[in-house]
Amino acid sequence: MQIYPCPFCGPRDETEFSFAGEAGNDRPEPAEKISDERWAQYLYTQDNPRGNSHEIWVHLTCDEVFVMERDTVTHEVIGTKSLRKEEAK
Ligand SMILES: [Zn+2]
Repeated sequence: MQIYPCPFCGPRDETEFSFAGEAGNDRPEPAEKISDERWAQYLYTQDNPRGNSHEIWVHLTCDEVFVMERDTVTHEVIGTKSLRKEEAK
């Protein structure tokens, strides 16, 4: 069992979180002009780096969406950052 830090709630059990994708994999726009190949790349292709990784996670208890920086080899959580707009100012 791991403990992940929610930027809003603090440390919580990993079972309360859901992986939502790699950070930086922005939705291509405008949707009507995107090729099938680009959509497939957006939906199904991930870098899956070994080591330092930036991922989007959701804390299911409070619905906080945030970026978690963690090491995919050691599973060490390096840090988290909220994606709420008021936090980005
Ligand atoms: Zn939370």
